[in-house]
Amino acid sequence: MAGSWFQVGYEAVVAESARITSFRQPRRFFLKPGKTGDVVYVDDDATSFYEHSYRRNGDWHELSCSSPLKIDACCRRLGEPYYVGLYTVVDCSRYTGQDGKVYQFELKAFAAKIGSLQTLRRKRQTLVSFAYRKCCIARDTDKSPASGNDFTFGDEVKDHDKLFAITNYKGKLLKDLYDAAESDPEEFQKLSKTFQFQRDGEGRLVRRVPAFNYEVLYMPHSEEEIQRILSGEILAGGDFNKQQPGKPGTGPGPGGAAGGNTQGVDF
Ligand SMILES: [Zn+2]
Repeated sequence: MAGSWFQVGYEAVVAESARITSFRQPRRFFLKPGKTGDVVYVDDDATSFYEHSYRRNGDWHELSCSSPLKIDACCRRLGEPYYVGLYTVVDCSRYTGQDGKVYQFELKAFAAKIGSLQTLRRKRQTLVSFAYRKCCIARDTDKSPASGNDFTFGDEVKDHDKLFAITNYKGKLLKDLYDAAESDPEEFQKLSKTFQFQRDGEGRLVRRVPAFNYEVLYMPHSEEEIQRILSGEILAGGDFNKQQPGKPGTGPGPGGAAGGNTQGVDF
């Protein structure tokens, strides 16, 4: 049974959980104009698809486009989608969020639009791999992509144990998330939607910084889900490149000087 504003039963609860979960994608790496930031790339290649950006209550969100080749519910609501390639990175920059907390070594998604993807493709031709390689990224001006436009790759990480030990995801150390996944099958199920876990020969989880599980995290929604996700929201379609940092948890706040801050940390 359902009225115009209520539902009875658990089907709607499942749908609402999916709607809330859809807002919980990994945070995206971005820089203020004129700043640099150090990251470690986790995967070699970008996972690319079409998506939309939109604002909800002042915050930016992304929604994978379910069908860039025909006009679908997402395109009708949010306009034309754009092509984006994602990488998993460890953001080594240290900054204080608006919530007053200090952030560093968080696992984030690095989003590159077509221009940056071309630049990275050329870089990749000269390097054996990106995986676990350090990189200093610069954003020259406010016209440059929010995730930066200049990439200086450095050495590969030598100490994977140390990198794993310090990396966190949304405030929780990977080490603790892995412990939970190993001791609780339900937790494993939940976390395997976020991370691409690897197992060793004896079935134990390999303690190495994982890439995101793009296939699940960014899976396009059905038309019905899109209607639900966007329902009742005051929306403004837009471009994530134009988003401004400053909201807690989405990146460096006004006081946050994102920039080459890995001094003293060697891994
Ligand atoms: Zn679309």
